[in-house]
Amino acid sequence: MRYHNITKDDMLNGDGLRVVLWVAGCDHCCENCQNPITWDPDGGLPFDEAAKQEIFEQLEKSYISGITFSGGDPLHPANRPDVRELMAEIREKYPKKTIWLYTGDSWEDIYQYPLMKYVDILVDGEFHEAEKDVKLLWKGSQNQRVIDVQATLKQEDPRIPVLHCGDYSQDPPPVPQTLQDAPATSCLL
Ligand code: SF4
Repeated sequence: MRYHNITKDDMLNGDGLRVVLWVAGCDHCCENCQNPITWDPDGGLPFDEAAKQEIFEQLEKSYISGITFSGGDPLHPANRPDVRELMAEIREKYPKKTIWLYTGDSWEDIYQYPLMKYVDILVDGEFHEAEKDVKLLWKGSQNQRVIDVQATLKQEDPRIPVLHCGDYSQDPPPVPQTLQDAPATSCLL
């Protein structure tokens, strides 16, 4: 797996303050993706032991709610095995921290992936420019869903997602000041 960045004290990609791993590699080619540089699975840097320790240092902090996997797409075939392994390690070492995952894939196509047992919240679906709304909570376009994975997997039909939250917050997220701070969608948008 390769990655572009590890951001800290992030408030825009999940509940609380989070550490965010931005992986390299995405096949979705969404129109107006704000960071096509992340599409190449050979881009960025190798995810090595030092990068892992950088994440663990953040997760040690009591005020950090957890980790968000974003990109790029953490479920790109180049990333999925390593993401699964890292999630397993985090779940064991930091059982109280939450794991969020952003992907351009749709829940109905991925709910059977073994790594879902580690995921608390999944934001699914490609970014649709025509459905873009900067006021949405944790996502960039209306078609995307913020899914409570564990509640969904317990249902009789786990293909039907249980949503973690509504589309809008009573307390809107902070207005982004820079491109990198732009609202969360399936990834860097
Ligand atoms: S918006 Fe996200 S899922 Fe879509 S192409 Fe960009 S990185 Fe990939």
